[in-house]
Amino acid sequence: MANDNKKMISGKELQEKYLRKDMMPHIFCDGCGLGNVIDYTLRAVDRVGLDMDRTVFLSGIGCSSRIPGYIEADALHTTHGRALAFATGVKMSEPDLNVIVFTGDGDCIGIGGNHFIHAARRNLNMTVIVVNNFIYGMTGGQVAPTTPEKDKATTAPYGNIEPPFDISKMAISSGASYVAKWPVFRPHQPISSISEGLENNGFSLIELLSPCPTAYGRRNRYRQLQDLWEFYEKNTILVEDYEKIQKFGSEEEKERADKMIKIGVLHEEEREPLEERYYRLLKELEE
Ligand code: SF4
Repeated sequence: MANDNKKMISGKELQEKYLRKDMMPHIFCDGCGLGNVIDYTLRAVDRVGLDMDRTVFLSGIGCSSRIPGYIEADALHTTHGRALAFATGVKMSEPDLNVIVFTGDGDCIGIGGNHFIHAARRNLNMTVIVVNNFIYGMTGGQVAPTTPEKDKATTAPYGNIEPPFDISKMAISSGASYVAKWPVFRPHQPISSISEGLENNGFSLIELLSPCPTAYGRRNRYRQLQDLWEFYEKNTILVEDYEKIQKFGSEEEKERADKMIKIGVLHEEEREPLEERYYRLLKELEE
């Protein structure tokens, strides 16, 4: 288990210990949640005491996929939607390495959807942090598979008419053994879930709802950054509270809760990861 009593690393220590100073300043827009995502991930890495010489960070394409470039560790910045395919290769060939993947909603679920469901199905031991900002940010604000219905994008100027994917639900139904979802405005829970994901022996998916004021917010009803943070505050519900309402709430409360985004640790199970099965089979064949 993550050492919750370990003193949290300070921001200054975190920068000194984990960031590549020669890559600064970063490219992220003012008000973007990606800085929070880096901060929470590195605090979790520090909390569980990962050996950075045995850790690889991977990403695909998009704003969130720039993250590994800022971290002082081995990294693979790969191609559109293919971070999990590369990560599968790393894990299968070097199973003792810690593998952490950063990907965005469009990169992971749109372009890379096929790799996502199969990596989860295989329960490869890796931690995947999906930054969900409801849009393709870096490429200009096109509609993503996660864009809420009626919201606007450059390719949906009259409002999105497609139903969105629920990334966490998809991970659970595909076979991921640890799944959590949090908005970035809550710092402690994402750090705790990323720590648990790093310690889980299997495919861990942490979906972080993260503001993109540039490509998503300003085209919709969130002109100010605080409008987006308020949206997360008002439209998310802890899964434990949701379940209580389903049991004891009125019809009106149930209906309201059904429309909200469920957050928390959504799924945990123990299941042998693919790489362990594979190396056991190899050993058996050699005997
Ligand atoms: S476009 Fe959006 S996701 Fe990309 S850096 Fe700017 S605010 Fe962040």
